Amino acid sequence: MLNTNPVLGIIGGGQLGSFLASSAKKLKIKTLVLTDDPVAPAKNFCDEIIFSDYSNKQKIEEFINKVDIVTYEFENIPFEVLNFISKTKKVLPSPEINRIVQNRNEEKKFVKNLGIKTTPWIFVNSKNDIKKNEDMLPGILKTCTLGYDGKGQRLINSLNEIDETWFDLNDYILEKKINLKQEISVILTRFKNDECYIYEPIENIHKNQILEKSKIPADIGEDIYKQSQNFAEEIAKKLNFVGTMCVEYFIDTKNNLMVNEIAPRVHNSGHLTLNAFELSQFDCHIRAVCGLKNLPNKKISNAEMINILGSDINNYKNRKYNNNEFFFDYFKKNIKDKRKMGHLTILK
Ligand code: ADP
Ligand code: MG
Repeated sequence: MLNTNPVLGIIGGGQLGSFLASSAKKLKIKTLVLTDDPVAPAKNFCDEIIFSDYSNKQKIEEFINKVDIVTYEFENIPFEVLNFISKTKKVLPSPEINRIVQNRNEEKKFVKNLGIKTTPWIFVNSKNDIKKNEDMLPGILKTCTLGYDGKGQRLINSLNEIDETWFDLNDYILEKKINLKQEISVILTRFKNDECYIYEPIENIHKNQILEKSKIPADIGEDIYKQSQNFAEEIAKKLNFVGTMCVEYFIDTKNNLMVNEIAPRVHNSGHLTLNAFELSQFDCHIRAVCGLKNLPNKKISNAEMINILGSDINNYKNRKYNNNEFFFDYFKKNIKDKRKMGHLTILK
């Protein structure tokens, strides 16, 4: 445990960075956000902000000199940058975890090596690789790196839909298309002493590959409830994870539970924890990375969260809300189609 309150550096200034900064403030922990977005929403919530390209060494050094501990709100920060920072300051979760998880092929190999089921997949970097594995179709071609909210993904039904030039730019995995019954996620926070707080599984509904709704309780049986929590804990342990992370799962029509992906950070599907639990995923993350202990946490209510995308935010801004409804505006300057602009949580 640290004697004085540390200054926490947060890389990334979106809504996740904003919620992390707000949680830190409650604990009187100062935050410095590093972001490449000049209108980053987190500037409304943190103590200080540095706007810089992640490749600007001078600015990164300024950031390093001002903070005691570093965490991050998204996994696509170049490994070299996190690794460079970790030479002088503690970076949590550790950069090595990020290296595995930011590459879909490495991530899937890691899960498979634990003996945990994941979606069937192959690494591909030519049309011919797919031709040799036609039984994987229909499948989803996903870039190995930098994908989010369905970006970098294509559904492939047959070989003639494939353009050879795609492979000039990226490496891919091809995943078998799963007949989805449901999607769930498990969010947990792991502390330095190996203790874990595991939230109950959350059921997620996606539309156009973007999260639309999350709710607790998830409509699942006891087996899947327990198994999904156990797998998530096993993954966190193996990664020696410190902080909050999320494991996204698919459940197919035969009730097979498969890991879809791991997010080494707080997660959109956990936004309902802000209102439905005494300690949110953000509170727990701040406590874990700052070396504070795992406090008893309790569910307050069942809940449903609705993501607000693009210009739909205007329909929510001037509305009246009931006592059980909590509207969050991310204060993003630019409205873009499909961009996450806010969310609404309804306690049930
Ligand atoms: P992202 O990083 O964009 O969240 P995901 O791999 O989680 O990427 O895909 C986004 C969504 O697309 C999933 O939550 C799911 O609804 C759908 N999807 C992705 N892969 C598959 C698959 N193999 N089979 C069926 N649906 C899929
Ligand atoms: Mg996903």
